[in-house]
Amino acid sequence: MAMGVGLTALRQGVTVGSTALQRKLLVSLEINNKDKAYEWFLAWMAHQSGNKAAQGRAAGWIKSHQLSVETTVEQRKNGSSSAAFRLVAGPGNHYFRYKGAWMQMKRERETRSMQMMTGTPWETVTLTTLSRDRTLFNQLLQEARDMAMQSQQGKLVIHTAWGIEWRPFGQPRQKRPVKSVVLATGVAEKIEEDIKAFLSRRQWYADRGIPYRRGYLLHGPPGSGKTSFIQALAGSLSYDICVLNLSERGLTDDKLFHLLSNVPERSFILMEDVDAAFNKRVQTSEDGYQSSVTFSGFLNALDGVASGEERIIFLTTNHVEKLDPALIRPGRVDLAELIDDAQPDQARTLFEHFYAGGEPAASEVDIDKLAEKLVQIVQSEWDAGRRVSMAALQGHFIRTDARTAVETCHVLFR
Ligand code: ADP
Repeated sequence: MAMGVGLTALRQGVTVGSTALQRKLLVSLEINNKDKAYEWFLAWMAHQSGNKAAQGRAAGWIKSHQLSVETTVEQRKNGSSSAAFRLVAGPGNHYFRYKGAWMQMKRERETRSMQMMTGTPWETVTLTTLSRDRTLFNQLLQEARDMAMQSQQGKLVIHTAWGIEWRPFGQPRQKRPVKSVVLATGVAEKIEEDIKAFLSRRQWYADRGIPYRRGYLLHGPPGSGKTSFIQALAGSLSYDICVLNLSERGLTDDKLFHLLSNVPERSFILMEDVDAAFNKRVQTSEDGYQSSVTFSGFLNALDGVASGEERIIFLTTNHVEKLDPALIRPGRVDLAELIDDAQPDQARTLFEHFYAGGEPAASEVDIDKLAEKLVQIVQSEWDAGRRVSMAALQGHFIRTDARTAVETCHVLFR
């Protein structure tokens, strides 16, 4: 009995002792998923696992038995979608070494309460290490932040809506030069000048108490470069793009309003195919909840912006005639531009982008002559009411050499 009592006392002593020791020797850092550092840290961890050079630093965690996958899905306007995923440390305990120090990482999920609206659970990551290594936390977070920033620098970041939050989708993309999108003469310049003038007049708007916003509508047939141009323009101004799919299931008026009022800084909002996006009647799903965006909710969200905040919206449509006039009035759409099928001189410029200076077999003279011939073909087809999209021309040029491209281009017209 004495031994039993002794052992219990000893065990309690050890527990108390170890807790005290832990308090004294260990230091913890808690990162909540409300904080930006949370994303950076998980991305940093995921990166360590794939990085051979980092073996021995933080690579150990990948041997953990608890991994989770993070997937982001982008739904494109043509119905296709793509998904990007990465493996991250799942809930539970993981250990890794950073600059010679052992660290414990504990990822916990709060299952009882959810974040309002998004429905994602609250999470925390707790890093623990020896007290003497506490300065490493700072270094680690800085490294994670720099890594996140570096991967975005000089690149175009696309955000998609995730519940009521915006999250970067996939890897930042290479910027596309604005000149590589060939629009009809003067159109690109007009839009560029308009947006630059807008951006330089923030104070002017503020002084007059006018909401600082600008809306653009690019309309015209598919494959004419609307989306490509908006992306290239965003890249050239170092803006991000927030893509919003209005017909996405589960997007309601309230969510839309919230999303539009909480756009990341320096971002264009891009809404494609607005003609098809909403129903004028309120749709309700089986359980009685509103399940899509209504037209009035959409207008409300477009209008509701605090005067100091900047908002730049791009709308695209293939059917401008289907749009309600209420949408196209100034304040909602300030500049509307037709982005049309290939005009003769657009076809020529695209042709030159593809073949001039590139093909060793064809001399510059040949390219000039061929370009001239192409212009004539496009012109005479255009006169006869037949057109070709820039996307179709691009596809055609990718497949063949300059001469064949011109000789066979008649098949493209519709
Ligand atoms: P839209 O948004 O008008 O439907 P996209 O921008 O999605 O057209 O273009 C589809 C493809 O065609 C892209 O790969 C793009 O590079 C090419 N393309 C379309 N229009 C042009 C253009 N005006 N200049 C250069 N490439 C173009």
